[in-house]
Amino acid sequence: MSPVRRPGGKPAIPVFDLSAQLSELRADVMAAIERVLDSGQMILGPEVERFEREFAASLGEDLHGVGVASGTAALVVALRALGVGAGDEVVTVANSAVATVSAIREVGAMPVLCDVSEDTALLDLEKLPPLLSPRTRAVVPVHLYGNPVDIDALRDVLGGSDVRVLEDCAQAHGALVGGRPVGTLGDAAAFSFYPTKNLGAYGDAGLCLSRDAEVAARMKSLRTYGFEGGPEARREGWNVRLDELQAAILSAKLPHLPRWVARRRALADRYLTALPAGVRPLRTTPRGTHARHLFVVCVAERAAARAALEATGVASAIHYPVPVHRMPAYAFLGMGEGSLPVSERLAGEVLSLPLYPELSESAVEQVCAALAAAA
Ligand SMILES: *Cc1c(COP(=O)(O)O)cnc(C)c1O
Repeated sequence: MSPVRRPGGKPAIPVFDLSAQLSELRADVMAAIERVLDSGQMILGPEVERFEREFAASLGEDLHGVGVASGTAALVVALRALGVGAGDEVVTVANSAVATVSAIREVGAMPVLCDVSEDTALLDLEKLPPLLSPRTRAVVPVHLYGNPVDIDALRDVLGGSDVRVLEDCAQAHGALVGGRPVGTLGDAAAFSFYPTKNLGAYGDAGLCLSRDAEVAARMKSLRTYGFEGGPEARREGWNVRLDELQAAILSAKLPHLPRWVARRRALADRYLTALPAGVRPLRTTPRGTHARHLFVVCVAERAAARAALEATGVASAIHYPVPVHRMPAYAFLGMGEGSLPVSERLAGEVLSLPLYPELSESAVEQVCAALAAAA
C-alpha cells in the first residue's frame, strides 16, 4: 500500500502542488528574480509595465492592464475606477471568496447578494431583475471555479441601463464565452495571481483590466496614492502596487499558461468520465469554455466522502463552506438562513478534488476509485 502521507504530513495527492511546477520553472524564475535584484528598481519599473502589456495582449487588442497588489486590490481599484462608491448598490453572489464582497464594502457600497443556479453554481440571471434598483451601480459576476458567467446574457438582463459590469476573473484565467476571453467582456475585470490560481505569483499579486483608456488611467492613479505623474494626489488613492519581483516572475510564467489550462481541461475531462454515480459534477455554462481552476463536485454525504479520500492519501477542500451572507462580519446584511437557498445548499455539498497541471491521470483514477468505494 502506498503511504497515506509523505514525511512532513503532506498527503500523497494534494489539492494543489506548487512544488511540482517550480521544478520545471526553477531556472527561469531564478533568472527573473536576479534580473530585478540586479536592476535595483523594485517598484513601478519595466517589469510591471512588461507584464501589464503581455498579460493584456494575451487576452486581445486594445486592452489596458494595471498591475496591483492582489486580486482583492484589483476589485477595489476597478470598482473605484468605474465610479462605484458610497450609497451605491453592487450585485454579486455569496458563494465566492470573501474578497468579492469585502471589496464592495471597501469602496463604501452596499453588496446585494443574488442566488446562484443549482447546476452551475453561478449567478442565476433569472433571480437578478428583482434585485436591481435605481441605486444599482454595478454587477460583479464571479467566474467561479473557472466556469464563465455568460456576460452577454447578463447584459441582456441589464438592458439599456448604465449598470457597470466588473468581471471577477480571479479563478478564470483562460476561460472563454462564445470564444471570447473572460476579462474582455465587461466594463472592467479583476484578476488574482494568488499562488494557487491558474497563473500564480510567489506571493500576492493582481491585475485590473479595461478596454477604456480613461478607466485604466484612473486605475493607475488609484493604485499609487492618486498620483498622475507628479507628486500631487489628484484623487484619493492608496498604495496597492504590483511589485517588480512578482511582475518578473509572472512574465516568466505567462507563456506556460495556455498549456497549463489545457492540461487542467484534459484532467477535468478524465474526472468527468471516471466519477462514480452519486457524485454530481457542476455543468459548464452553455457557450462557455471552462478554465478548470478547481474541479468541484456535489456530494450529499460529503463528510463520509472526504474521510474515504483522506484514508487513501487524497486531500480535498471546500470552496466555500460558508456563504458570505452567513459569516459573522456580514450579519448586518440581515440575510438569515434560507435567504439564498441554493447558495446555502451548495455550501453543504461542494467538494474540490485535486487538480493542478502536474497531476497524473492515474491519480485522477485513484481519486475516483476512492469516491466510488465511499458511495
Ligand atoms: C482569490 C480570489 C479573490 C481574491 O484574490 P486575492 O489575490 O487573494 O486577493 C477574489 N475573488 C475570487 C473569486 C477569488 O477566488
